[in-house]
Amino acid sequence: MQPAQEFGDNPVEVRETGHYTEEYVPSFVEKWDALIDWEKRAESEGNFFIDLLRKWGVRSVLDVATGTGFHSVRLLAAGFETVSADGSAEMLARAFENGTKQGGHILRVVQADWRWLNRDVHGEYDAIVCLGNSFTHLFSERARRKALAEFYAMLKHDGILVLDQRNYDAILDDGFTSKHRYYYCGEDVIVEPEYVDEGLCRMRYSFPDNSTYHLNMFPLRKDYTRRLMSEVGFQRIETYGDFQHTYRGEQPDFFVHVAEKE
Ligand code: SAM
Repeated sequence: MQPAQEFGDNPVEVRETGHYTEEYVPSFVEKWDALIDWEKRAESEGNFFIDLLRKWGVRSVLDVATGTGFHSVRLLAAGFETVSADGSAEMLARAFENGTKQGGHILRVVQADWRWLNRDVHGEYDAIVCLGNSFTHLFSERARRKALAEFYAMLKHDGILVLDQRNYDAILDDGFTSKHRYYYCGEDVIVEPEYVDEGLCRMRYSFPDNSTYHLNMFPLRKDYTRRLMSEVGFQRIETYGDFQHTYRGEQPDFFVHVAEKE
């Protein structure tokens, strides 16, 4: 029997930074990876990150939120020296497998939680990428500051941190009633906020076989993320709107922050 997601009697009270390892149960990860086909994702994202990293003259990259390996594999294919970290062993195993399947790439994987990154990952990098709305898993400000400080310490003096996030300002400000539905791969997966307050965005993922999964995330306001980055020492932060196709028109679904160490 595969483990089920466990949120207890009152799911909206689950606001713990360490809970992410229990949320990415194998059945959810498998389904997700099968439905969000990599080619379509690559198409919608384009070469945004590759071009950005090349523009900055980056050679070595630490992917701190490897997940199932989408960005790590793209970075390796584009010729970047890449180390792939994640706090979930489940995710890394799948990423490694995906790497060999997609072009025979051997991923250098390291299991590491961002809060103690320097303990488990070694070296300094030209860039750290934290993509796919991952930073949102941290629930306390202390954890966010600690993680950003760990990222900062692992960058070379002129390195950059590239971190993306969902546009939570829109979700928080438009309110729960006017919630927006995000469709992935056409209409196959429906992603929508089931509950929102200033301290929690609980997202529901509905799949065509009627199965549903949830992720509890902290709704990072854009300017708050920028402020934290600046407070831990990043000197300049540039924020881009959507890099990918948006179904909404006026507001971007994602923001991408590029923070310079010096
Ligand atoms: N970047 C991948 C993508 O775009 O497909 C994965 C994104 S997934 C939403 C978030 C990833 O961040 C998960 O693989 C999770 O295990 C990892 N993660 C969340 N919190 C973490 C933490 N504190 N330390 C290390 N990894 C963490």
